[in-house]
Amino acid sequence: MSSNKKQASKNNLYIAGVFGYPVKHSLSPAMQNAAFRNAGLTVSYLPFEVKPEEAAFLIKKLAVLGVTGINLTVPHKEVAYKNVDFLSKEAKIFQAVNTITVKKGKLYGASTDGEGLRLGLKNEVGMEIKNKSIIILGAGGAGRSAAIYLAVKGAKRIIISNRTRNKALTAVKLIRKFAPRTAVICGPLTEDFVKKYAAGSDLIINATSLGLKPKDKPAVGSKAFRKGIVFYDMIYSPALTSTMKAAKRAGARVYNGLSMLLYQGAISWELWTGKKAPVKIMQKALLKELKNRTNKVC
Ligand code: NAP
Repeated sequence: MSSNKKQASKNNLYIAGVFGYPVKHSLSPAMQNAAFRNAGLTVSYLPFEVKPEEAAFLIKKLAVLGVTGINLTVPHKEVAYKNVDFLSKEAKIFQAVNTITVKKGKLYGASTDGEGLRLGLKNEVGMEIKNKSIIILGAGGAGRSAAIYLAVKGAKRIIISNRTRNKALTAVKLIRKFAPRTAVICGPLTEDFVKKYAAGSDLIINATSLGLKPKDKPAVGSKAFRKGIVFYDMIYSPALTSTMKAAKRAGARVYNGLSMLLYQGAISWELWTGKKAPVKIMQKALLKELKNRTNKVC
C-alpha cells in the first residue's frame, strides 16, 4: 500500500479525481489536469460517478488503490467527513470534506470551499471580509459553510436568508458557537427581508441553487439590491444567472462563482502536491472548458 504510494511519488505519477453524483458537469478535471501538466507531473485526474451507497466503501479504499487525492462534490461531502482519518479545522466546523489527501496510507480531509470563496472575493472583487456586513441567500451546504467561514474570518454581521427556517437556524447556532463576536440575523428568502438589510450591507452572496437552470426565477428580485452593492453568485454556469440580472438592474456590481471554483481547486492541488498552484493556467483551462461546453449547447 504505502510502497505503491512511494513508487507513485518517485515517478511523479499522481492519481486523482472527483467523486460526484452526477459528475459529468464537473469542470474540475479540465482545471486540475492543466495544473498537473503545467507542473510536469504525470497525472490522471478523472471524474468518478459514485453512487451515494458506494461512496463510503470507495473512500476507505483510496490508499490501497494508490490514489493521491480526491475532490468530493454533491452529495459526498458529508460521507467523506465521516470516513477520513484526520480532519482540518475547517472540515470539523463545516462537518463536510471536499478534498481528501492520501499520505502514508492515511486519509486527510479538508474543506477548501470557504477559503476558495474568500480568495475569489479578495482577488476578483477586491474585497476583504474583515468588518463587512454580508447577506447570504441560502443555507444548504454551501451557504452554511460560507456563513460560518466568513464570520470566523471577521465579518461584522451575517444575515442569512433562506426558504427553510430550520436550516438557517442551524447556521446561526454554528456562527454563535465559532464566531461569537459576529452579529447574526436570519429570515425568509424574500425581496422585502433582503432589501431591509441591503442598505447597511456590503455584499450579497447567492448560495441557493436558483439560477442553475436558465429558466429559474431569481433567488430574490431587483428591489432586494441597492446601487453599488457587490453581488456574488456562487453559480458559474450559466455565467450570467437570473439573480445576477436582477441585481444588475438595480445597479449592483455582479460576479459569478467561477473564482470560488478556481481557488477552492487551487488549494486542493496545493494540498496534494505541496507546490504553489499555477492559478493563471487553471483559470485559462476553466474558461476554455466553459466556452467549449457553451458552444456545444448552441
Ligand atoms: P444544497 O445543499 O442543495 O442547498 C441548496 C440551497 O438552495 C438551499 O438553501 C435551498 O433552500 C435553496 N433552494 C433550492 N431550491 C430552492 C427554491 N426553489 N426556492 C428557494 N430556495 C431554494 O446545495 P449547495 O451544495 O449548498 O449548493 C448551492 C449552490 O452553490 C449550487 O448552485 C452550487 O452549484 C453552488 N456552489 C458553487 C461552488 C463554487 O465553487 N462556485 C461551490 C459550492 C456550491 P432550502 O434550505 O429551503 O431547501
